Amino acid sequence: MQLSRIYASLPEQFSAPLTPAPLRNPQIVALNEPLARELGLDPDWLRSPAGLAFLGQGSRPDGAPPVAMAYAGHQFGHFVPSLGDGRAMLVGEVTDRARQLRDIHLKGSGPTPFSRRGDGRAALGPVLREYVVSEAMHALGIPTTRALAALTTGESVMRETMQPGGVIVRIASSHVRVGTFQYFAAQGDTRSVRILADHVIGRLYPELTEAENPYLALLDAVTARQADLVARWMLVGFIHGVMNTDNMSIAGETIDFGPCAFLDAYDPAKVFSFIDQNGRYAYGNQPDMALWNLGRLAETLLPLLDSNHERAVEQAKSALMRFDGVFNETYLNGWRKKLGLALEEDGDARLAGRLLTAMHRGEADFTLTFRRLGDAVRSGQTEDIVSLFGPGSKIKEWIRDWQARLDREERSAEACHADMQATNPRIIPRNHRIEEMIRSAVTGDFAPFRRLTEALSHPFKDGTDGFETPPAAHEQVKNTFCGT
Ligand code: AMP
Ligand code: MG
Repeated sequence: MQLSRIYASLPEQFSAPLTPAPLRNPQIVALNEPLARELGLDPDWLRSPAGLAFLGQGSRPDGAPPVAMAYAGHQFGHFVPSLGDGRAMLVGEVTDRARQLRDIHLKGSGPTPFSRRGDGRAALGPVLREYVVSEAMHALGIPTTRALAALTTGESVMRETMQPGGVIVRIASSHVRVGTFQYFAAQGDTRSVRILADHVIGRLYPELTEAENPYLALLDAVTARQADLVARWMLVGFIHGVMNTDNMSIAGETIDFGPCAFLDAYDPAKVFSFIDQNGRYAYGNQPDMALWNLGRLAETLLPLLDSNHERAVEQAKSALMRFDGVFNETYLNGWRKKLGLALEEDGDARLAGRLLTAMHRGEADFTLTFRRLGDAVRSGQTEDIVSLFGPGSKIKEWIRDWQARLDREERSAEACHADMQATNPRIIPRNHRIEEMIRSAVTGDFAPFRRLTEALSHPFKDGTDGFETPPAAHEQVKNTFCGT
């Protein structure tokens, strides 16, 4: 294994070295072997005592210290100048089979200089939620951090109740966040902002080195990746839950799965996070919040964009203006695919909008609606769609117009069906399934975790496992709690 220390070698203000502390009784409960192989890590070694110390406490074979990364962040709109990895560590970087650098990062591994009042630990429940949801996102084709392993620590952590402790081993293209830039900018440390920007360009956006203004090109590129990412979330009904600037990756990957959730019934105002009382990060607000966060990133880059402040602001604004265009393109193209439309017509956005209105009025299940539209293209039967909608939705009128639109397509129903089922998942990680899985895992029964993970690895396949079923009234999850 070639384990680098690229980020750890940046100037000392970027991170704090850590001494790995042993866990009481670490046990691997999940090891993602295909991902391990992709990263050039030997699964047998990972299961050995040395591998366990690597996964559980960040002990590097070369004995070099892992680090906690420094960052700041706007949390629910309020700026906190120093957050940092309070219960996480960057162990190092490996080069994967595609010759890309990937971070190996642990969460729940113990206190760091950034822990503030926290205990530096993670509870097993949120660890498994992150494992399941991040791997599900990957299987859905959405940029995301990955889960290499989940461990139990043999220790208890105090939350609302005592809970088993856990560690998640997370893989990312980078753990630099908008908040990392804010950390230095808030201290007026432009030199460090520049070092960070150069590091990010070199690692994640090497093609920008040649740009006329690489820092402007960076803002532009991050804006585009983030707009594309959030559009993809919207198309599968994903709610991140805590889109604080410290939880927004510069690499454009979904990161920090805390109180995240997928929509069951469609509702644009839906919020699951218990701590988000004002609905700041509601499903329908996510594009606006992403752009708001990018505005905070832009502010940190102003001194690098132009020595003239007004000119720098104009340039930053023009980069941020790209957000809507990229978002709308991914979103509308995604909608066409979801509805089985290969041709482009002007009325398509309106057709999609009318379906959302019908789903909202009829409280229809987001995922099942699309899956059954796909079924209907082949069978010609629409009762199973209509039955998802409550009264007053006007879904029948919508279906009639959609079918008229499909009649203008130039391909076979079979081809259209195949395309739709490859874009509209049958299975998403539904909250009630996750809660059920966690309830079992904390008693030591990991069978539901394994079944759910396996099913979510092929979300587009037909099947009879029952995982597509929405929650019954008594199974509905109203709130999810933060991942702490
Ligand atoms: P999060 O809500 O997980 O995005 O975390 C926000 C900030 O709180 C980060 O700086 C975390 O490192 C820190 N934090 C969260 N939980 C803990 C914990 N149990 N102990 C120490 N720091 C924590
Ligand atoms: Mg976070």
